[in-house]
Amino acid sequence: MPGLPGWLPMVLYVALVPSVIVFGWLFKRRIERSGTSVRQAFSGLSAVVRADPGLVGRRVLGDVFAQRRVRRDRLGSWLHLLIFGSFAALLVGTSLIAVEHDFTEPLFNYTFLHGWFYLGYEVVLDTAALALIAGTSLAMWRRYHLKPAHLGGRRSIHLVYGLLLYFSVSGLLLEALRLLTHPVPWGGWSYAGHTISVALKPILGTHAVGAYETIWALHVIVVFAVIAVVPLLMLDHILILPINIALQAGRQPGALRTPFDLPSIIASDGDLEGIKSGFGSPSELSWDRRFMLDACIDCGRCEAVCPAQAAGRDLSPRLLIQALGADLRTNVGEGQPPEQDVFVRGVLTEATAWSCLSCGACAQECPAIIDQPGTIVELRRHLVEEGRVDERQAALLSGLERNNNPLGLPSYQRSDWLAEMGVPTVSEAPDAEYLYWIGCMASYDQRARGVAIAMIRILRYAGISFAVLGNEERCLGESQRKLGDEAGFQVRAMENIETFRAHNIRKVLTHCPHCMSTLEKDYPQFGSDMEIVHHSALLADLIAEGRVPNPASGAAGKLTYHDPCNLGRLSGVYEPPRQVAKFAAGEDFVELEQSRDKSFCCGAGGANYFYKVPEERTVSGLRLLQITAVGADTVATACPFCLGMLEDAATSSTGDKPPPRIADLAELVAAGLPVEE
Ligand code: SF4
Ligand code: SF4
Repeated sequence: MPGLPGWLPMVLYVALVPSVIVFGWLFKRRIERSGTSVRQAFSGLSAVVRADPGLVGRRVLGDVFAQRRVRRDRLGSWLHLLIFGSFAALLVGTSLIAVEHDFTEPLFNYTFLHGWFYLGYEVVLDTAALALIAGTSLAMWRRYHLKPAHLGGRRSIHLVYGLLLYFSVSGLLLEALRLLTHPVPWGGWSYAGHTISVALKPILGTHAVGAYETIWALHVIVVFAVIAVVPLLMLDHILILPINIALQAGRQPGALRTPFDLPSIIASDGDLEGIKSGFGSPSELSWDRRFMLDACIDCGRCEAVCPAQAAGRDLSPRLLIQALGADLRTNVGEGQPPEQDVFVRGVLTEATAWSCLSCGACAQECPAIIDQPGTIVELRRHLVEEGRVDERQAALLSGLERNNNPLGLPSYQRSDWLAEMGVPTVSEAPDAEYLYWIGCMASYDQRARGVAIAMIRILRYAGISFAVLGNEERCLGESQRKLGDEAGFQVRAMENIETFRAHNIRKVLTHCPHCMSTLEKDYPQFGSDMEIVHHSALLADLIAEGRVPNPASGAAGKLTYHDPCNLGRLSGVYEPPRQVAKFAAGEDFVELEQSRDKSFCCGAGGANYFYKVPEERTVSGLRLLQITAVGADTVATACPFCLGMLEDAATSSTGDKPPPRIADLAELVAAGLPVEE
């Protein structure tokens, strides 16, 4: 602060007080607008930190400081990293000056901004100012020139761009004028400010001192004004997102909230009357979920990856969250949630709730860590509780109730074919290493049954002992839970867990990622404790151990792999299926552009396999187009639902070229086995 009066720092600190008071008041109002009190937010925050500080620390480091989610969009990540990183550097740099100038030096005669550290500090801060200009310009170019369809943003975003440019440009100007009016031998280290000062010298002449003081005053006034109103601007996400990220730290991808624990209620002779599993209005939600719904920053990343949106269904996860957030803010303070739900009040349509595929793509992209799929399932729970389901959905639920399978086919037919193949049941082979969980699809759908038959052949060839439950096997209830019938699902889970316990099942093999995730993530909430193995992992092990022969080279042609959402994005299994696919394809393996955690749903998830919603294009048809774009002759998958959906898309394909062959990994491996007599 050379050349400025010595009393100025004191005046600045006094002037900062009203700015901070207004900030505090507006921040409190920002938190309270979702019906969350500041006390709730901070005691909730301290509770989650105390419960698992390591986990919260990792999430905050990853999602706030390392910008893990933001990095998923290349251009968006670059510009946001530039803005975030440079803004943080400038904030820390400016604070260091204040700390030295106003505290450590006058109080302890201690300075640290000198020598090489100071010279490096000058270089870093000049670079940060330039990076802030570059990042903001890039953001404006994207918004105003490229205009990506999904890019939202509140109105204050335009003001924020202006402010960021103002801070960086006026900061550099101040530095230039300081060097001009109070030159120092090391001024060249402030390379940007120094360059500007050289350019300004002939223009300003004797007016440099006046310009320095004027820009200094303006810079400080604007900074103090902006500090006060941060909670009103899009900049509020700097405060709100870290809180929400910490509050949501414990949520696992794809895990649904368990609103009540039926086994405990039954054990304690409790009453289910009055227990709600979902919500009809967001103001019925707990404070932390209301806070979450109000954290959306309108970035549109969720909408850009949503397969339901791509298919022209009546669902945009962004608009859904924003509609719920707006409804929440309207009804906060009423004391009671509105009598009519969001569907009756026209906030959302029921088709929106049914259009979701529970693929988790939106939640994975969301930098605010909002749980869009879980929120949608809770809206469905409300609709199911009210009996507002269509004919197909009702048939699915009644089929499950009557016949223990979602296809509504007679339960006694479930395992005849297995008996004909001579596959033992767990009663007949109690010492078998694996319980092979066949699942409803392979039990009743001829195409999916081919996967189980291929797997049985492989298990026998490799000498692995296994048994099935036979007619004791019943649907695990994944589609029931995703459809919103929570109570029905929990009854089913209890019955199935009882069966597993009765047969002392320890290790389950399944070729269905939906069954795998239900057994692995949902059932343990009700006391299940078993090892669950997806067939892709077992196949990869058998290949690595040389226990299965190579399929004929080139038989599958150019082969690609479709990542099922439940196996990949929601369970993190990417490598074993690729090892199997590459074993079958050899050199002819090709990756899809939308692969791994960027995979695109087949259209079956969230119980959508069993009912229809209005759409302009089919989700499976869109996925098939992505597959044909890489010129694959065969697409391998590892899920009976994906298999069925892609087969349907291939059958209805009207493209010039014949559609690729759709095959499960097990079928590709079984093709290399000796032909059975
Ligand atoms: S879970 Fe999938 S289908 Fe549902 S809203 Fe998210 S991205 Fe869209
Ligand atoms: S819900 Fe998340 S991803 Fe979607 S617009 Fe809001 S902040 Fe962005």
